[in-house]
Amino acid sequence: MTQTLIKNGQVLVGKQLLATDVLFDQDKIVAVGKNLTAEKVIDATRLVVAPGFVDAHVHLRQPGQTAKEDIASGTLAAAHGGYTTVCAMANVTPVPNTAAQLSKMCQLNRQHGRIRVLQYAPVTVDLTTEQLTDFAAMKQAGAFALSNDGHGIQAAQTMAQACQEAVKFDLMLAAHAQDDSLFDQGVINQGEVAQQLNVRGIPASSETVQVARDLLLAAQTGVHYHVCHISTKETVELIRQAKKRGVKVTCEVTPHHLLLTEQQITSQSATNYKMNPPLRTSTDQEALLAGLQDGTIDMIATDHAPHTVADKAGSLTQAAFGITGSETAFNMLYTQLVRSGKLTLTQLLLLLSTKPAAALGLSDVGQILPGKRADLVLLDLNAQRSLQEQDFLSKGKNTPFTGETVWGQTVATIAAGQVVYRQK
Ligand SMILES: [Zn+2]
Repeated sequence: MTQTLIKNGQVLVGKQLLATDVLFDQDKIVAVGKNLTAEKVIDATRLVVAPGFVDAHVHLRQPGQTAKEDIASGTLAAAHGGYTTVCAMANVTPVPNTAAQLSKMCQLNRQHGRIRVLQYAPVTVDLTTEQLTDFAAMKQAGAFALSNDGHGIQAAQTMAQACQEAVKFDLMLAAHAQDDSLFDQGVINQGEVAQQLNVRGIPASSETVQVARDLLLAAQTGVHYHVCHISTKETVELIRQAKKRGVKVTCEVTPHHLLLTEQQITSQSATNYKMNPPLRTSTDQEALLAGLQDGTIDMIATDHAPHTVADKAGSLTQAAFGITGSETAFNMLYTQLVRSGKLTLTQLLLLLSTKPAAALGLSDVGQILPGKRADLVLLDLNAQRSLQEQDFLSKGKNTPFTGETVWGQTVATIAAGQVVYRQK
């Protein structure tokens, strides 16, 4: 018997923070309440105890790009950020086009992951062709869902076929919505700032045109269509209306699209503000927040995209797209959205844990209840610090949030009953 009791914390139970205790035995929560006892006790006085966070969107870069990140460093970084489940995209080298390759990736995830890693399979061969992968075999090999993240699916016929096949095998289809003809080698949002800096702009329509198309196809087929990292006001509205019509659609927003706009991009060297989709306008930012408030947006996901220093060097046009996110998501959102009164603490915690778990169909996590996995995060909201590069456990240091003063520190992260991160 190795029971552990987390005592004296403020615990997220359902949609409420309660002064109560949590007892877990090995990898499962066995009781929530007062007057519980155990040999091993973790004192959570003045700490918030939440379900371990669930990130629907990370890039772990293994195999093939391990100078940027690997499964061990990426999952350790996630644990530092309070995550106990991450969903890894398939844009690694080589792309796992076959069931054998995907099965090997799942094995690597289990072997090196400090927390649970769920693996996306590519929708089409090499993520860029119009040839579907073998969905049945991918599911058999351990795929939790499908995504060509990094690339939009260009031909409508391919998307239609993908929807039909995904329904057959009960696989979620997660879309990086991007019409390449409209994207047209853009670098940052099409608008004022792109003009001032004389770089190519990415119009909002490169996202919205595909989302509109895909929502029609999703409605026809009944597939679970998930939209990655939505960035525009129009996308929020399209999804809001589709949900009203009963389309099985979910979506995510990133911390950076909630916290930043194109106005932060002030020079050619501001490459840590370059990501895809790009930072948009304050009107878009407000619409994203409204989408969180009214439930149109189901979850916050980081799109953690670690890169080497060399990858992010040079001008806006030259640098790679993407920023890290695992280790800054909670503290930045808590500091800038909760402490300013734009979201409540429970809203934020739910958007990082219970809501993504529910939307992704992960019934064993996301709630602190007897029978659920002992996936928990202990947070100190009163701890203030400045985000420093040397504190990041990710190999990627490419974040615009370095130097920010934040509140909200991960004190410990427990995954399947094991302490996988502890504050030093
Ligand atoms: Zn993407």
